Formats: sequence, C-alpha cells, structure tokens
Amino acid sequence: MTPSDPHGTSGDASPAAHVSPLEQALHAARALVLADLVAREVAEADVVSLVEESVAQRRWWVEQWPEGSAYLAGLVAQDVQDALLERYGRWPLCPVCGSGAPHALEVEPELGPDPHWVCTKAGVKVAAVGALGAATGGGAAES
Ligand SMILES: [Zn+2]
Repeated sequence: MTPSDPHGTSGDASPAAHVSPLEQALHAARALVLADLVAREVAEADVVSLVEESVAQRRWWVEQWPEGSAYLAGLVAQDVQDALLERYGRWPLCPVCGSGAPHALEVEPELGPDPHWVCTKAGVKVAAVGALGAATGGGAAES
C-alpha cells in the first residue's frame, strides 16, 4: 500500500541493463531474420541492409505500439521477404515440396507471436523464424 517501490529503480548499474525491452526485441528480430538469410545463403551486404531498413521502420512502429514487440520477428521477416522479392526473387524457397513450381514460404501468423515459416501449398509448418537453417540442413542447391 505504499508508493515506494521495493524492487524498482536501483541496482542495475551495468550498461546492458539500460537497453530497453523494445531494443532487445528489435535486436532479437534482426538476429532471427539474419540467421534465416544466412541459412539460405543470401546474407550479402546489401541484403543485410534490407534487414536494417526494416528494423528501423519497425522501431518506429513498435514505439507507437509496444505490445507489438512480440510480433517483430514475423514482421521483419515479411518486410525482408517483400524487399527480396523485388530485388532477388522469391525467398525463402520451399524446401519441402520436391516438385512443381518453386514457391516461397510464408510467415504465419502474419501479425502474432512465435512466427513460423509455412508452405501454404503443402500446409506444412517448416520452421520457426530464425530456425530455417536447422530445418533445411542448408545446401539446398538446385539445378
Ligand atoms: Zn511447398
């Protein structure tokens, strides 16, 4: 019943403690999407800059709506996917469908926590965003 805060503002002296939860969420989203880019071997310098661009825009977005911080990874993944589609083509290509036209995985949920890459054709959840490398084993070379 007292306004004084027993576990509040004192005690955290390290610089890392001053990184806001939003910055941490942005950093995590960036790391997850970069991991997927590396997994599919498209993490070139200009691609990385696409991620940075998305993170910068989403920083503004999440400052307006902090509750959305759990959605950042899925949103950044979709931003980068869109940007890559314009510049490079479909990404990430579906690793589960062996035949038929190449198609990209999609992020589900589009706006929600715990985003995954899914193949909407096969109806398969392929991997969590950030875990694409583990799911595909890399080396998806196609002729
Ligand atoms: Zn597929």
